[in-house]
Amino acid sequence: MVAKAKRIEAVPPYLFAEIDRKREEAVARGVDVIDLGIGDPDRPTPDHVVERLCREARNPAWHRYPSYVGALDFRKAAAEWLQRRFGVEVDPRGEVITLIGSKEGLAHLIWAYVDDGDVALVPDPGYPVYRTHVLLAGGEPYPLPLKAERGFLPDLEAVPAEVARRAKILFLNYPNNPTAAVADLAFFEEAVAFCRRHDVLLCHDAAYSEITYDGYVAPSVLQVPGAKEVAVEFHSLSKTYNMTGWRIGFAAGNREAITGLGIIKTNTDSGQFTAIQYAGISALLETPAEFIKRMCDLYARRRDLVVDALARLGISVEKPRGAFYVWAPVPAGYTSAGFAAELLERAGVIVAPGTGYGEHGEGFFRISLTTPDDRLEEAMNRLAGLRF
Ligand code: PLP
Repeated sequence: MVAKAKRIEAVPPYLFAEIDRKREEAVARGVDVIDLGIGDPDRPTPDHVVERLCREARNPAWHRYPSYVGALDFRKAAAEWLQRRFGVEVDPRGEVITLIGSKEGLAHLIWAYVDDGDVALVPDPGYPVYRTHVLLAGGEPYPLPLKAERGFLPDLEAVPAEVARRAKILFLNYPNNPTAAVADLAFFEEAVAFCRRHDVLLCHDAAYSEITYDGYVAPSVLQVPGAKEVAVEFHSLSKTYNMTGWRIGFAAGNREAITGLGIIKTNTDSGQFTAIQYAGISALLETPAEFIKRMCDLYARRRDLVVDALARLGISVEKPRGAFYVWAPVPAGYTSAGFAAELLERAGVIVAPGTGYGEHGEGFFRISLTTPDDRLEEAMNRLAGLRF
């Protein structure tokens, strides 16, 4: 057998492997398993986006290789969307790049910035891509603990000077996965100032910027004056328009970061199908605000259902104002993995153990609100019968 590259060994073990094994056993026993672990919208993409794809797919010009950095029309639409939504100005030529989903861009940006031994500041718990790709690139992820008592915002002042000196990138993500926490512009101002002071690239993952509740409106890091000097922001059409399967997003901001990302992408993928980018333009510019509001109202109702059901179990959680997750503490005496295993065993319900997102996720579990109402209600009814 040919030995795999050493970097593969750097990839942390897959923490859901044990849950996956238990799920298969339960399904084999005939248990009707309800999966609340995955964050993937259950509702369809809006019709006007699907119609646009059908039309554009017939254009033979799009059957050839797409532009590496993305169709200029898509980049212009992304810039227009940023301007309409946040009042932010970016140049579609050089400050915006089309992505095959924001995950792709986040991963590739790391390869443009992180050399052997470079430090990257990553939220813990956090979306696993940041940490994993820093490890693959030979870098050192430095965990920034997200703690309940700080509203799940990292304490940047607590980063030791020596670590800040070696750091190349700071990752932030608000509204946050997995904690569902939100940030205000003052926090982004602080983060931009930190990055300027230490010459660090601020990479903000805004995948959930439109999924917010109770009147909260998420800011963009690019609203901070001068942010473009140090920051790049990642946007995704996946969650906002129920388009996870389409693989379309964009990055915008610092020109050098966009160029660096472009160099990695040009030499790796060959861009997203142009017809999908045109459908993406319809999503960004032609989706009525009412559609997004309806989705947020739906998630908010599910959030209330889950938070109330957990309260009856003695698990108290504040209602989150962003993202479509509930991040809840496990009952006393359990580890995250132990509690997730117990819910599967006793109720046939899968939740994501907090440790799947980093060691500081210990003591928590995540419920996703992207399961159809009847299944989510059924899951909560099953939990209601349990005592811990
Ligand atoms: N960033 C965060 C925080 C996510 O939770 C996800 C998906 O779950 C992504 C990025 C990836 O989104 P995309 O579908 O655009 O690749």
